[in-house]
Amino acid sequence: MIVDLHTHTNASDGSLHAAELLREATAAGVALLAITDHDTLAAYRGLAPGKPGEPRLVGGIELSTTWRGCGIHVLGLNVSVGSDAMRAATSFQSAARSQRAEKIAERLERAGVERALDGARAYANGGLIGRPHFARHLVATGFVKDFAQAFQKYLGAGKIGDVKQHWAPLGQIVEWIRDSGGNAVLAHPGRYGLTHTRRNALIADFAAIGGTGLELISGRQEPSLTATLAAAAAKLGLLASCGSDFHHPGQPWARLGMNLALPTACRPVWESW
Ligand code: AMP
Ligand code: MN
Ligand code: MN
Ligand code: MN
Repeated sequence: MIVDLHTHTNASDGSLHAAELLREATAAGVALLAITDHDTLAAYRGLAPGKPGEPRLVGGIELSTTWRGCGIHVLGLNVSVGSDAMRAATSFQSAARSQRAEKIAERLERAGVERALDGARAYANGGLIGRPHFARHLVATGFVKDFAQAFQKYLGAGKIGDVKQHWAPLGQIVEWIRDSGGNAVLAHPGRYGLTHTRRNALIADFAAIGGTGLELISGRQEPSLTATLAAAAAKLGLLASCGSDFHHPGQPWARLGMNLALPTACRPVWESW
């Protein structure tokens, strides 16, 4: 069974509308799907009831927070999208995103980028603004040659556009997810640029604070990383998740439903859903 529990739509920084994403996921043979936009559940609004042949869709979100000064992402999976806790989470995080966007724009403008906020907003389709929208503005205005360079020079970890202080703390994020009936899963633990020691400390803190799962597979990744994360999950009694982190069609490293088979010894997060 193909399970993809990490995907984005144009309600955050993906390019497909939720209905198009569902069509593509159906074509890719996905049986169980979560849409996990950054800090918003807007993709779930007005979605037609599931049709035969479509994947079973569970409530999902990717919440932004920090751990020891490092920006991290926590997936809320199988959350109740209409719950009070999710309403609280999305309203807090959406205000945090607006404040952060203003701060990023101020900093970019000080570096000589004109109309940064309006520019980013134009790419956000009326949704929440993220760094990828600023990246597109930097490319469009010729400040950088491509999207990757926008992150290397201005928006990536430690650069001027990397503003982190607005998010709700990790404990609050985990509590919101639990209160909405979901599983808190640490997203792509291999992608924070942490040393092994710090990554293990993050995973241990995440489990201690009430997190229940680890995303063992995120799109294209080395099998050795999957094995290392599976061992960490087993040691701490964490459940296992997998997802493509799909944003746009045509990206071979994040195709819907791609090689998402978990190691057989793991306990899948969806086991009890
Ligand atoms: P934000 O949620 O606003 O902090 O933006 C984070 C998003 O930017 C991630 O989910 C990715 O989609 C994208 N992103 C982060 N780092 C990079 C990078 N180095 N190159 C390209 N995209 C990136
Ligand atoms: Mn993203
Ligand atoms: Mn992420
Ligand atoms: Mn993601």
